[in-house]
Amino acid sequence: MIKNMRQLIVCRYFILFLIVFPILGITNCSANPGENDNRQGAVNGEPKWKKKAEHMVKDQISRRGVKSVKVLKAMKEIPRHLFVPSNLVEMAYNDHPLPIGHGQTISQPYIVGVMTELLQAKEGDKVLEIGAGSGYQAAVLSKIGVMVYTIEIVRPLAVTGEERLKKLGYKNVHVKWGDGYKGWPEQAPFDGIIVTAAPDEVPQALVEQLKVGGRMVIPVGASNQELLVITKTDKGIKKESIFPVRFVPMVHP
Ligand code: SAH
Repeated sequence: MIKNMRQLIVCRYFILFLIVFPILGITNCSANPGENDNRQGAVNGEPKWKKKAEHMVKDQISRRGVKSVKVLKAMKEIPRHLFVPSNLVEMAYNDHPLPIGHGQTISQPYIVGVMTELLQAKEGDKVLEIGAGSGYQAAVLSKIGVMVYTIEIVRPLAVTGEERLKKLGYKNVHVKWGDGYKGWPEQAPFDGIIVTAAPDEVPQALVEQLKVGGRMVIPVGASNQELLVITKTDKGIKKESIFPVRFVPMVHP
């Protein structure tokens, strides 16, 4: 009889253990998100940000006409919340630009999608970006297999941008602190150039550093800016206007 009572108690503790252990396991997963989740938490083992990135791509980018499968895929896979200041993490996947300090912004997701698609960069291409900012646009290019050279004029942004890209494992990105008006002559010519701040006119040095057949995507203008795609031919340049935009100005040092 006593033996049976003991067995019963042991058995009840064993059942209790089987119930409690998995509950603790699940709670720990969502309460202690990994570093990459950055307070975004997890649902069924998948970080919450992945759902947010998927919605961002579907509702803001694909729905407005961006078709490039590789651009859409890259933007779904990049943790955009790790490119914004920690107090703005909750807004990282929303349909607008966000401040990144020093009076600068990370571009609206849709604009990043459109500009990357317009660049038509292929795997293995060498691309120059002007205005590294948070490093997000560079990460998108890197994810589609492009070799990225990016210049940033605000030193602290160049430093944190480079650190962030390195930490997140984007190895094919080179960040330089400097003046984008000069381009990166040591690395020229480039298959593509993407400019994420607006100059009043297309900088001549950038045209010179573009390969014949290459494309430059650039917002141009002081008060009224338009997004241009410039194609370099052996006879000169061809300009195509896409739509009006509003970017931070490309500054002179
Ligand atoms: N591509 C960035 C968005 C950057 S906003 C991202 O994905 O986050 C534009 C950036 O251009 C700012 O960081 C600004 O400091 C930089 N910038 C402005 N004038 C510049 C210049 N002459 N040379 C290089 N960078 C410049």
